[in-house]
Amino acid sequence: MSLVPCRACTHQVDTSALACPRCGATDPGCKISRQHRNAIYFVIQLMFWSAILGIGGWYVVHTVIPLAKQYIAKPVAEAPAAITPAPIIPAHRAAATGGA
Ligand SMILES: [Zn+2]
Repeated sequence: MSLVPCRACTHQVDTSALACPRCGATDPGCKISRQHRNAIYFVIQLMFWSAILGIGGWYVVHTVIPLAKQYIAKPVAEAPAAITPAPIIPAHRAAATGGA
């Protein structure tokens, strides 16, 4: 309960007053107005969330996407060495040998 000069009009106001009774300035006992304080908080939060999104985006681009590409890529099929492919016999020769 101490009196301080209003930030805007230097009228003596209580430190806990929400507005100056003479000029209507908000938080007259504070050095900066509520609007200035909100603007500073907004800029700080904007910088914080931009950094979070930037770091998260960098992580996704450099870590998650290459990993996803590894999982999506199809492995190259290799024929087993022990199994030899069956000989291809034309139909007319297969019928001739099977019928005889
Ligand atoms: Zn005032």
